[in-house]
Amino acid sequence: MNFTYSQEAEEFRGSFRSWLEEHFPQEWNREVTGEEWVQRRKQWGEMLAEGGWVAPSWPEEYGGLGLSIEQQLVYIEELVSINAPEVLNSNGIGIFALTLIKYGTEEQKKHYLPRMLKHEDIWCQGFSEPNAGSDLAGLQTKAEDKGDYFLLNGQKVWTSYAPYSNKCYVLVRTADSRYKGISLMILDMEQKGVTVRPIKNIAGETELAEVFMDDAIVPKADVVGELNNGWEMANFALSNERGIHFAQRSLKMQQEFQQLLSLFTEQIDLGKAYVKGSKLQTQLVQSYLSCEILKSVCLRNIALISQGDDTGVLPAIAKLTWSEGHQDLLNTSLELLGEESLVKGKHEVWMEKFLLSRAETIYAGTTQVQKNIIAKSLGLPSSKGGR
Ligand SMILES: Cc1cc2nc3c(=O)[nH]c(=O)nc-3n(C[C@H](O)[C@H](O)[C@H](O)COP(=O)(O)OP(=O)(O)OC[C@H]3O[C@@H](n4cnc5c(N)ncnc54)[C@H](O)[C@@H]3O)c2cc1C
Repeated sequence: MNFTYSQEAEEFRGSFRSWLEEHFPQEWNREVTGEEWVQRRKQWGEMLAEGGWVAPSWPEEYGGLGLSIEQQLVYIEELVSINAPEVLNSNGIGIFALTLIKYGTEEQKKHYLPRMLKHEDIWCQGFSEPNAGSDLAGLQTKAEDKGDYFLLNGQKVWTSYAPYSNKCYVLVRTADSRYKGISLMILDMEQKGVTVRPIKNIAGETELAEVFMDDAIVPKADVVGELNNGWEMANFALSNERGIHFAQRSLKMQQEFQQLLSLFTEQIDLGKAYVKGSKLQTQLVQSYLSCEILKSVCLRNIALISQGDDTGVLPAIAKLTWSEGHQDLLNTSLELLGEESLVKGKHEVWMEKFLLSRAETIYAGTTQVQKNIIAKSLGLPSSKGGR
């Protein structure tokens, strides 16, 4: 991103880049999909952990790098520039860990954080339910107090990485009050009362799942924070999901735009006259504009975070600009490549990206919900409900 970095940030870049040059496997330049991709993400997480580079935002006392926001941006830039995969435990390291650090007990932190770093535990997020997605506060999974432990009954859905996870941070109902009756607990997935049923996504992958809890046990030591304070913690966790993560998405989108631009000129050079002066060209310019807008929004967001200021609706604007703009960019890629994106070979990865992008306007808050948030900030009326 275009940003004048401090000397401290550039020094950090130097040491991280040296480590990456030495350790990032060259053969990973070839993009892979499916199970091979999942394994690569796990392996990369383990490698980063071994080098001490896996948790940029965690405080050093818990094994993190304790980086400033500016240095975190440098960290992301370096990883995106070499096309490194996202670590498999991103849900734990990037989202839940910060919640545990803020609200958890010292015993929980001592036990779970080192295992999370090393990818010994893989974590998933059990928030959404069949009748509680946008309206998350409507969740119904029941946790019954049994003395030393809670007994969980209910169902979660769209749980990313559940088929690879052995731990889940789960929101459950512990009292009748809509917002003040929700608690956050750590669920051991490897027990009799938990069933994971994978859901095949549009690209044929099964990283999503339904999670069923039938008398699943959570010891009281695995309740996070105060009982019935889960709504506050869920919002804190989700704000991490929507914070600096968009800078990574923005950088990735810029990278894809550059690749698309090269493909475009390649097609012209190949004499594919239909490309020249076509509506594709207009779409490409539109994608460039989306990239530039997203970049500005992300930089402003980061500037506000680093000053400790409220980011207001910027995360909603970033989510909306990224998800809609990214889908448009990938539509253009397929229109440009035509049948070449359908056959196995150097362009198949565009088809996979296109298919996976369909869900981007749904997860981490749908397009309609983001528009409601923005409308509200403008003093306009919004629809009822929504998180
Ligand atoms: C790929 C993927 C990965 C996911 N990973 C996870 C995960 O790891 N953990 C997890 O807990 N969840 C996960 N989710 C679930 C995700 O958070 C929900 O799908 C999302 O919040 C939408 O909820 P829903 O699917 O129940 O749709 P609904 O909320 O039922 O929405 C249906 C439609 O109604 C619209 N709508 C709803 N409310 C309003 C409103 N107030 N105003 C206007 N329109 C509205 C929505 O925009 C949408 O178009 C994932 C989803 C996907 C697709």
